[in-house]
Amino acid sequence: MAFMIPQYEEATRVDVWHDVTNESGESFIVHPDAPTLADAIDGDVCETEEITSGIFCRLSAPGYMDCTDWSGPHDTLETAQKDIADTFDVCAECGESLVDGDGEYPNCEANVCKVCAS
Ligand SMILES: [Zn+2]
Repeated sequence: MAFMIPQYEEATRVDVWHDVTNESGESFIVHPDAPTLADAIDGDVCETEEITSGIFCRLSAPGYMDCTDWSGPHDTLETAQKDIADTFDVCAECGESLVDGDGEYPNCEANVCKVCAS
C-alpha cells in the first residue's frame, strides 16, 4: 500500500473552501475545517474568495500529518484524478507509483494503476 493516498473532497454551500491571497501575493487553498484563514496561510490575509462548488484533491498519509497542498477546484472527479496522476505520477485511486525505474508508465491505465483499473 502506498504511503500517500489520494484524497478528494467536494466544496458545497455548507463546506465552503477559500482561495486566500496573502500580502506577498501567494495564494493558498484553505480547507473548510481550518480554524481561521490567518492560521491556515503564511502571512496576513489580503484577499479571499469563497468556493462553494468543485472537487479538491491532494495526497495524504493516513495517520500522519504528511500531505500535499490541496489542488482545485476541479469541475469533475475525473479531472481531479487526472491532476493527481499528472502531478505526482501515482495512481489516482490507490496512490501507488505509476512510473518504473526507467521513467516509463507500464502500470498506467487512464490515471489509475492496472490493479485499480481491473
Ligand atoms: Zn491503483
